[in-house]
Amino acid sequence: MAEELTEYTGPATMEKITSLAKRRGFVFQSSEIYGGQNGAWDYGPMGIELKNRIAANWWKAMTQLHDEIVGLDAAILMHPRTWEASGHVENFTDPLVDCKKCKTRFRADMIPEENLANKTCPECGGELTDTRKFNLMFRTHIGPTEDNAGLIYLRPETAQGIYVNYKNIIQSNRMKIPFGIAQIGKAFRNEIVTKNFIFRTCEFEQMEMQYFVKPGTDVEWFNEWKKRRWAYYEKLGVKMDHLRWHQHGPDELAHYAKDAYDIQYLFPMGWRELEGIHNRTNYDLTRHTEYSGKDLQYIDQDNNNDRYIPFIIETSAGLTRTLLMLICDAYDEEKVADKGDADDWRTVLRFHPVVAPVTVAMLPLMKKDGLAELAQDIRNELKEDFATDYDQAGAIGRRYRRQDETGTPFCVTVDYQSKEDGTVTLRYRDSMEQIRVPRAELTEKIRQEIKAYKRK
Ligand code: ATP
Repeated sequence: MAEELTEYTGPATMEKITSLAKRRGFVFQSSEIYGGQNGAWDYGPMGIELKNRIAANWWKAMTQLHDEIVGLDAAILMHPRTWEASGHVENFTDPLVDCKKCKTRFRADMIPEENLANKTCPECGGELTDTRKFNLMFRTHIGPTEDNAGLIYLRPETAQGIYVNYKNIIQSNRMKIPFGIAQIGKAFRNEIVTKNFIFRTCEFEQMEMQYFVKPGTDVEWFNEWKKRRWAYYEKLGVKMDHLRWHQHGPDELAHYAKDAYDIQYLFPMGWRELEGIHNRTNYDLTRHTEYSGKDLQYIDQDNNNDRYIPFIIETSAGLTRTLLMLICDAYDEEKVADKGDADDWRTVLRFHPVVAPVTVAMLPLMKKDGLAELAQDIRNELKEDFATDYDQAGAIGRRYRRQDETGTPFCVTVDYQSKEDGTVTLRYRDSMEQIRVPRAELTEKIRQEIKAYKRK
């Protein structure tokens, strides 16, 4: 086995990623004109396309490709008892310390141990407060009064919406164990420290799948889902030497977990969690049985109506965190000329075509002599199958660079020859190779290229 990478050595930095994301319309600071809202971000025209495609790709991998997994979209606001049953009211806390001098807040588990031991601020050397527990759930009120009767939480994970619906889904869709329920949606956590751009935010999106299994088969299914989730990233063309497993030690395990592994990615700021795979046992359903008074046992009609509370294997990935990972993973700088100026280099996002915000850009070589009209005409044809862009302004080299920077895998140009023989030029983002293709074969050619795409 190849030796594990210890640090990131690629061309990306978080500054470059943040600046590219803003400049090219991927991600903007929330409420920027008011100075920005900490922990919240807005996804611009490129960002929303990328995010939607990542979500669609995950959804396909988790539902369409598995006969026994169905989807759900549960509400963000849930009955507050949900969070008592799940243990979040009691346990979903981070250890918090404040500096009395500079007022900075820290997660106690994120500062050096010696600072914690001698209670000195790692920023200014001032005195730190005692460590106290801080619950990460956002609280608000429903109804016209702000008293405790109307207290409600913004969900800190999407999973509980699945658990409280599991019986509904068994009944409505005649599911038999083992089966899964997948969901993508917003989650909210009042994070003490939000840094590294969109890595850790207060409002974010999760892609979670809960797999219901017979007790005793949970370890086997846990290992199976570890394999499947690893293969998922491989198929997406992620740099596999930038991924590794991290098993939770006894002090890291969540209150519900029997075993847990994170898939970590080597971001420019180091190895960080991307997705968690958890054996949540029958903890959640047992607690919901207790707190709701409803019988949440599964009745195994194929096995003498055996009754049991299923174990749950969870795969929990951050959608917005995956988006950041994919931008970092795709980011490259490449020397493409030797003229001694800034144009010698290109910045290119090598996204897999299935997630790239724009799949095909149409670039007429000239505006005049009917080339622009011809290009528009071809674009209208391509629109039915692909996300397209159109750009007729400026030198063709510059236009290619703009598309490279947002990760468009294919550019199509039309020139005078196109008018004569009906062919166009197809240019590949990664190799910059150009080939001529008959217009009538273009859609099929691009479709095949997407299917066969392998990252070099
Ligand atoms: P951490 O220890 O980093 O706070 P966690 O272990 O609590 O994270 P989980 O509860 O397992 O995270 O959440 C599952 C996934 O949801 C994470 O792997 C991550 O991709 C995503 N996620 C969790 N918290 C955030 C956040 N504040 N911002 C963005 N994504 C998040």
